[in-house]
Amino acid sequence: MLPKLCRMCLTNVFKGYIINTDMMKLTTLLTLSILGLGLFLSSCDDGPRRAADGYYFEEKEFEKTSLGVTVVLFETRREFEETAKQKLGRDFPVENVAAFGSLSVVGNNCTIYTMDASVQYEPEFLGHELAHCIWGRFHEKQNIARNR
Ligand SMILES: [Zn+2]
Repeated sequence: MLPKLCRMCLTNVFKGYIINTDMMKLTTLLTLSILGLGLFLSSCDDGPRRAADGYYFEEKEFEKTSLGVTVVLFETRREFEETAKQKLGRDFPVENVAAFGSLSVVGNNCTIYTMDASVQYEPEFLGHELAHCIWGRFHEKQNIARNR
């Protein structure tokens, strides 16, 4: 699937094609359009479309559609980061963490830690953590690429 901008580029190419009725101009325009199409496709190909959370979906580790989900909400960023350090490790850079979760290996229980929506409303990260509860580790390749 092409990013939104690329689709707009393609639409403009084909508008020019329809307006021009002269056969020679049409052939020239068609040739230029095909060349342009190739340029647009190659210049716009930046991989899979990323969602609002900054990730794209790679693959399912598992699928759990019936879950027990506990959500732990924080009123302050300081409390959130302190809990994140306890759960993720003291050396983990929690300043960049918007939400995190833990998934029980046994059973279908999942816990999501995030800021209270009345303090900091970021549903894309709540949804991201819920996606982990449902499908497990779905962006491992991106994690590896980001940690390089
Ligand atoms: Zn994630």
